[in-house]
Amino acid sequence: GELRRLDLAHHLPAQSDYKLQRELGGSRIITRAEGCTITDAEGKSLLDGMAGLWCVNVGYGRDELARVAYEQMLELPYYNTFFKTATPPPVRLAAKIAEKMQASNPALTHVFFNSSGSEANDTIFRLVRHYWALKGQPKRKIFISRKNAYHGSTVAGASLGGMTFMHEQGDLPIPGVEHVLQPYQFGEGFGEDPDAFATRVANSIEERILGVGAENVAAFIGEPVQGAGGVIIPPDSYWPKVEAICRKYGILLICDEVICGFGRLGHWFGHQHWGIKPDLIAMAKGLSSGYLPISAVGVSSEIVNTLVEHGGDFVHGYTYSGHPTCCAVALANIEIMENEDLIERTRTVTGPYLAKVLKRLENHPLVGEARSIGLIGAVEIVSEPGTNKRFTGKEGTAGPIVRDLCIKNGLMVRGIRDSLVMCPPLIITEAEIDRLVDILHQSLNEAEPVLRA
Ligand code: PLP
Repeated sequence: GELRRLDLAHHLPAQSDYKLQRELGGSRIITRAEGCTITDAEGKSLLDGMAGLWCVNVGYGRDELARVAYEQMLELPYYNTFFKTATPPPVRLAAKIAEKMQASNPALTHVFFNSSGSEANDTIFRLVRHYWALKGQPKRKIFISRKNAYHGSTVAGASLGGMTFMHEQGDLPIPGVEHVLQPYQFGEGFGEDPDAFATRVANSIEERILGVGAENVAAFIGEPVQGAGGVIIPPDSYWPKVEAICRKYGILLICDEVICGFGRLGHWFGHQHWGIKPDLIAMAKGLSSGYLPISAVGVSSEIVNTLVEHGGDFVHGYTYSGHPTCCAVALANIEIMENEDLIERTRTVTGPYLAKVLKRLENHPLVGEARSIGLIGAVEIVSEPGTNKRFTGKEGTAGPIVRDLCIKNGLMVRGIRDSLVMCPPLIITEAEIDRLVDILHQSLNEAEPVLRA
């Protein structure tokens, strides 16, 4: 239709292949959504197995969030925090986020606002280097991250990220970022004892710290569960080992909770599943369930006090830092999660249910592993059951092939190389989880002759 024509003529969609956009005759135009279901301009409805882009945690069609935005816009749509000023929503939201962070780590007292997850990580990048300079250790500049990590698309975000195909565009990473092994047991530690694998992967951090000199290392950054990398769920002993290494060398621990925060793993923050205590947290997405753009950085009192003791200046901030309307909506979104017990329900009901029905897919001849934690999961597609072997000559293509079949069959999921990933709204019902897994199963059946051809 008309919109697809205009899309082709004028629109560059984010993270897209513009040649493919032309071949397909424009993007699929999504026009409406309700609950866990999205609908396109041609009237086709899809179960949203991705919660938009890992973010619509409370589901679509929440009147109260629209009302809160409307009322805030009438009262005070915008004011900044640059002029020794603040507005009520960011102040209230910061206190609410602090309460959630402090449930597991009382040291996390303060919150800095931005508009996107990428910006949150850029803020962290500057704040951490500035902190070490103030502490009289200006050589501590290096960030250690993991291969295949995703921390955003800005220059610092994509540099912290470990995706080589992103580094190739824009001559990244910028100096001072080191990438070590990721805890991807199915792909890189197949058949290895999980604790031995966790030790090997965590030790790659320590080796790198020693390699570059501990006195030069500022921080380690990681997603509790790598999302865009393919829903990489680390072995249980991995995070405690990483935390111990950070403490041993006195380097800061940063958790990028942009996907894992706000209930995804059945806790307010993903790291709480492993009981570790980060010094900084990046959060976005589920913070507002995607209803408006907002992100935040959780900061420890040690870092705040260091700034205060050295003059207090942090010359960093965005026009939309602490945007009142975005903050008001985020606060109302958190209240929905509280009132509907969505975190507890994810941990005790829907998360375990997804794990149980997803596991059954492991009987399918194309499935090497079906893993999940809370309401985020992945299915690994293999050529031979019981192995991690991919289809020869078709490596990296199985995910997108099955994804296209899922979309045809009424389910939006993402194909990442040879896996499918899912991350539905936290309001998903057991019946919808059944439907999600049924469509995965049917689509795998349909893909099998194509992949074996
Ligand atoms: N960090 C993680 C872990 C993410 O998954 C993402 C986005 O997917 C980002 C950062 C970047 O967030 P944004 O796209 O809002 O800039």
